[in-house]
Amino acid sequence: MNFKTLSLMCMLSTALLAVSCGEQKQATDDFQYSDERFADLQMLRYRVEGFENLSLRQKTLIYYLSEAALTGRDILWDQNGRYNLRIRALLEAVYTDYKGDRESEDFKNFTVYLKRVWFSNGIHHHYGCDKFQPAFSEDFLRAAIQDVEPGKLTFDVEELFPVIFDPTVLPKRTNQADGEDLILTSAANYYGPGVTQQEAEDFYLRMKEADPDPAHPIMYGMNSRLVKENGQLQEKVWRSGGLYGQAIDRIILWLEKAKTVAENDKQAAVLDRLIEYYRTGDLHTFDTYTIQWVEETEGDVDFTNGFTESYGDPLGMKASWEGIANFKDLAATERTKKLSANAQWFEDNSPVDKRFKKAECKGISAKVIVAAMLGGDLYPSTAIGINLPNSNWVRAEHGSKSVTIGNLTDAYNKAARGNGFQEEFVIDQATRDLINEYGDVCDDLHTDLHECLGHGSGKLLPGIDADSLKAYGSAIEEARADLFGLYYIAAPKLVELGLTPNAEAYKSQYYTYLMNGLMTQLVRIEPGASIEEAHMRNRALVANWVLAHAAVTVPEGSPEGSTPAVSLIQRDGKTYVQINDYPALRALFGQLLAEVQRVKSEGDFEGARHLIETYGVKVNPKLHAEVLARYKALDLAPYKGFINPEYIITEDKDGNITDVQIRYGEAYDHQMLRYSQQYSTLPLVNE
Ligand code: ZN
Repeated sequence: MNFKTLSLMCMLSTALLAVSCGEQKQATDDFQYSDERFADLQMLRYRVEGFENLSLRQKTLIYYLSEAALTGRDILWDQNGRYNLRIRALLEAVYTDYKGDRESEDFKNFTVYLKRVWFSNGIHHHYGCDKFQPAFSEDFLRAAIQDVEPGKLTFDVEELFPVIFDPTVLPKRTNQADGEDLILTSAANYYGPGVTQQEAEDFYLRMKEADPDPAHPIMYGMNSRLVKENGQLQEKVWRSGGLYGQAIDRIILWLEKAKTVAENDKQAAVLDRLIEYYRTGDLHTFDTYTIQWVEETEGDVDFTNGFTESYGDPLGMKASWEGIANFKDLAATERTKKLSANAQWFEDNSPVDKRFKKAECKGISAKVIVAAMLGGDLYPSTAIGINLPNSNWVRAEHGSKSVTIGNLTDAYNKAARGNGFQEEFVIDQATRDLINEYGDVCDDLHTDLHECLGHGSGKLLPGIDADSLKAYGSAIEEARADLFGLYYIAAPKLVELGLTPNAEAYKSQYYTYLMNGLMTQLVRIEPGASIEEAHMRNRALVANWVLAHAAVTVPEGSPEGSTPAVSLIQRDGKTYVQINDYPALRALFGQLLAEVQRVKSEGDFEGARHLIETYGVKVNPKLHAEVLARYKALDLAPYKGFINPEYIITEDKDGNITDVQIRYGEAYDHQMLRYSQQYSTLPLVNE
């Protein structure tokens, strides 16, 4: 799983929190985090922090893995729809060769369409899956094609017109509507023409039933297209010599080179196994590869390369191709190590009932990584975390790697600086200053506490089924981890460990957390709808519970001036969160943590339902409308994606790499056209 389902949310929530760094840093730092904006998209850049400090061998390894990450690009385009590669070739030819007025409305609309197609790796929205409707006419495109250099378009362009223009043709990339044939109604190219959902489900059910080792099933169907030939269903496997073989062979070349500069023998063996799997397409080899990959933790450099996530297949089996090259963020990893080393102290001192505490508590040393190159389904729209492999038994028996991608989160935060969000929603300058100074540090730290300690803390009472909370289980679990983080981020222990700069810093997190939970996360909810997503429910629960309980903890008849710890106030017709008493707020977080832990440990379904339904689901329509209107006025792009850096190598006369430099600043259209030239690996039609 990558945190992709999460990623939009996190992108937004980090943008919403709009935490930003100290002013001094901004003055010396002229890196452009934000780039161009079009349609509902904002292009960003990320910085590969710490690349300079790597050894030449590591830099060279990253260069090779980056090439491998970019080389699978065409595979994803073809997976997203069988006409995509041809449409891309057509649009790019028009874009470069058009001789008419490039300032005309038609050409501008054409350019926006092309940029959206580039962004989505196909003609359907990357997130909503709906087909884009061009804002230029068929006549315009027909005329523009006349300008294209003869011989460039080697295919029947007429066939593409209804695919581009007719809204009824292939309207959805991945259809999830209950009751329809999800395969026949999805444009994604994971199943050949005429294959029905029933046929595909039966085909794979038969395979699973025949599995000789059902406790260790392979990832059935993951790396193939299921087609019907002469009435017979068969898999066309994506491997060397098979479907997508031309692209895979070129990926293998880069992996072979990477192997020569691997950091250790285990890493070289991982690369070897991946190559073997790409050559054979054998899914048992794939499982072995993922086990070796999980167990290789010594190297600083790491990667994902291959058919990985199945969100694009309506049946959730077939995996889209993605690639990332990355390395450990050593400073951040130190941070999580400190927390893990003190896991028992945190467990012993938490405000929950002793019966629910772990006698022996081990923290998870969550790894923070720096992305060095994004490819395939991680580009340009990306995940901010990766948790792999996806095979359940491999995870249970061999573990998984869970990483957050620090430099991408950082880029979202930096790009959100100065977008007006804080000025609109934060109550006053003093609070904004607090957030500016400590927001980044405390946001990261809250995530670390949540991931390394929160999820791992506490225990179920004997005999309690882990699934007792049913549909409320994940929201309660997220609330537990968040509350653990909120309670402890204010602990003097963190100052002692050198993790927070001083005893005031945590206040920035308290403010942004409540502002998000009570107000700003509502921008992702349609008017009239209620909150459904687990993380959002958790934040609403925490914030609303604290707000309600803060009000009742001021006893009636208290002396004048007694205010609740938190309240929502009105100023000039706008609602703001006001925090009056931070230590009292911490005590409330502690109380709720104790209650949420009790609900979890006892498997108290009714208790969970009460908490979530009372505090986590409902939206105050008046406040919601106000927040939506204020957010809309800021005119921020809802989706974001990244332009990659470039790696420039120097070689000696024998072809050995003697230096790898990183370069930023390539324009979005330039990068896309360059990729289409450099990484065109597949024929335009892949039957
Ligand atoms: Zn979590």
